[in-house]
Amino acid sequence: MSTAINLSRIHFPVTTLGPGRRIGIWFQGCSIRCAGCISMDTWVHGRGTTTIDQVVEAISPWLSTADGITISGGEPFDQREALFQLLKLIRARTDTDILVFTGYTWTKISDVLASSPSLIDAIVTGPFEIDEKQTLALRGSDNQELHFLTPLGRTRFECYDRSINERDRSFDVMFGDNGDLWLAGIPARGDFRRLQTILESAGSTLRISEDTRFPSL
Ligand code: SF4
Repeated sequence: MSTAINLSRIHFPVTTLGPGRRIGIWFQGCSIRCAGCISMDTWVHGRGTTTIDQVVEAISPWLSTADGITISGGEPFDQREALFQLLKLIRARTDTDILVFTGYTWTKISDVLASSPSLIDAIVTGPFEIDEKQTLALRGSDNQELHFLTPLGRTRFECYDRSINERDRSFDVMFGDNGDLWLAGIPARGDFRRLQTILESAGSTLRISEDTRFPSL
């Protein structure tokens, strides 16, 4: 029987979380719970239950044209057994790059990664720290680290080892079946709150899943 996995969503194409048109896979459930996280909707464990086989089936039509795979969350390593099984199946079907975002620090995660060195090409590690600056590409706060785990990862992601620029401030907009609108990308501090204010001033309503304990942002 295929292993269960809890996901928040799957989408293609995603253009704001790595190079090219990518398949985005967001895990559901996060035990790290960073203050100021923009995706509190992914914190609860146990929602979005599916199986690894179903995930592979869902992404298969996109694999031949995708430039890469981005896995984020939620916290992928809270489901590490399912994560590695999924990565193995993806690796067997495509030679495109795999980027993973984790809220665990490099110190905490490096031993786990060493047990499966070829399944991830590049990884962004570390929790979102609301009091840190945000000046680096692919990172929501400057404590987060970009690591290259394979030669492919270095080739594809070395260009992100730099300061953020205007191009990094873009979002992919996705529409869910239930009318929800979802944004993928790495926002600047307060971007979602600003968008909410703009829409509300035009008579629309926007519910955001950002941790709003920091009204000054
Ligand atoms: S930023 Fe990532 S690791 Fe931190 S609480 Fe949000 S989903 Fe979890």
